[in-house]
Amino acid sequence: MALSNSQYDAIIREYGRQQLLNKHEQDKRVEEIYRLIPAVRELDDAISTTAVQYAKKMLGGDQDALNRMKEELADLREQKKILLQSRGYRADYMEMQYRCPDCRDTGYVNGKKCHCFRQAQMRLLYAQSNIEEVVKRENFQTFSLEYYDDEQVIPAIGKTARAHIRQVEEACRRFVEEFGEKKGSLLLTGNTGVGKTFLANCIAKELIDRYFSVIYLSASDLFDIFSKTKFEYQAEEEMKDMYGFILDCDLLIIDDLGTELNNSFTSSQLFYCLNERLNRKKGTVISTNLSLNALRDNYTERVTSRIMSYYQILPVYGDDIRLKKRRGSRQ
Ligand SMILES: [Zn+2]
Repeated sequence: MALSNSQYDAIIREYGRQQLLNKHEQDKRVEEIYRLIPAVRELDDAISTTAVQYAKKMLGGDQDALNRMKEELADLREQKKILLQSRGYRADYMEMQYRCPDCRDTGYVNGKKCHCFRQAQMRLLYAQSNIEEVVKRENFQTFSLEYYDDEQVIPAIGKTARAHIRQVEEACRRFVEEFGEKKGSLLLTGNTGVGKTFLANCIAKELIDRYFSVIYLSASDLFDIFSKTKFEYQAEEEMKDMYGFILDCDLLIIDDLGTELNNSFTSSQLFYCLNERLNRKKGTVISTNLSLNALRDNYTERVTSRIMSYYQILPVYGDDIRLKKRRGSRQ
């Protein structure tokens, strides 16, 4: 499973908080009962002293002490139960109550992650990815070749946009299949509206379903986080966590690179981020309207050369699908 260390710690901290809360709630219930039914406190005291007395007898060699103790304690507990119920309380009202009784809010059962842990993990992976809702609509099942022209041959590639997109889709599916120990990276280039973001979302959906951690950010949001983490010393704890996730998640999607305001700061931050992710063997998908030459002009040679050497580059051709859809819906 693909949680970063900080995410794992966050879940474990949550279990710790829950356990403290459980104890606190139990203390309150016990206090309430002692106040309202003093006889219960007397029974509890009797239970403690009985246990201590018998422990001494057992240590003194009394063979039968254990059995007699069990009997006496069972009797005292029964009295307590009856007393509680007679006053309208559940028999286990003073016991610890758990949010997940299966693992008693520890997250683990017999050394294995409890179902509640897996659920917390999934919630975290989905929430951080920001795309939970989008990938319900945009995924390989809903990806349609119909929007791509199948008549005109595009001279640069010697085939139609549809024939080409079929290969691009195939490459994206392969990217997902091979995403494991070693994670690849992709650059999707092409004009506005040709489906680059849609393809990135298809990939995201598949990887999220396989419990990989995925973060989707537009380039401007990404740089916004970089500058807030860098320049605001009192940056929210959450922002710092986010920065950690950006470097550490299994797949980072940077959408629409080139639309943000860029300067030497964004260039150096982008280089740091891409390079760090390559070093950590994490996957990155970038979509951009820019050509490779324009990328070089905007983000320096070293950013572009990292991408050229380590990314699979997939140009996407076609008409603006958003315009087509709008026209289609008007008819
Ligand atoms: Zn559990």
